[in-house]
Amino acid sequence: MPRLRFCRGCGDLISSGVRCRDCHAQYVRARNLRPEHLARVAMPRAQRERILKRDGYRCVDCQASDDLTIDHVVPLITGKRNYRDDELATRCRSCNSRLGGKLSHAHR
Ligand SMILES: [Zn+2]
Ligand SMILES: [Zn+2]
Repeated sequence: MPRLRFCRGCGDLISSGVRCRDCHAQYVRARNLRPEHLARVAMPRAQRERILKRDGYRCVDCQASDDLTIDHVVPLITGKRNYRDDELATRCRSCNSRLGGKLSHAHR
């Protein structure tokens, strides 16, 4: 008797692999689209402005005001394109790359 597992996509019982046929097809499609990459370039300008304004146009870690980028405070999730404002934070380029996308050790 095959060991049953749960599909990672929909939670249905499956007998082999990690996803049911439907979810696997969807997964492959999503991977081919490189959604993580798209998420980075697809942030609306208005949202970017909103985050910068909320954080006072300063890096949330070191308070620097130049070379600002918008950092994702949650890991990129495959297939997810839009982020809520509270999932984003203003960081200068050096803090952003130093953290490598990990949660910050805020020293305020
Ligand atoms: Zn499934
Ligand atoms: Zn900084």
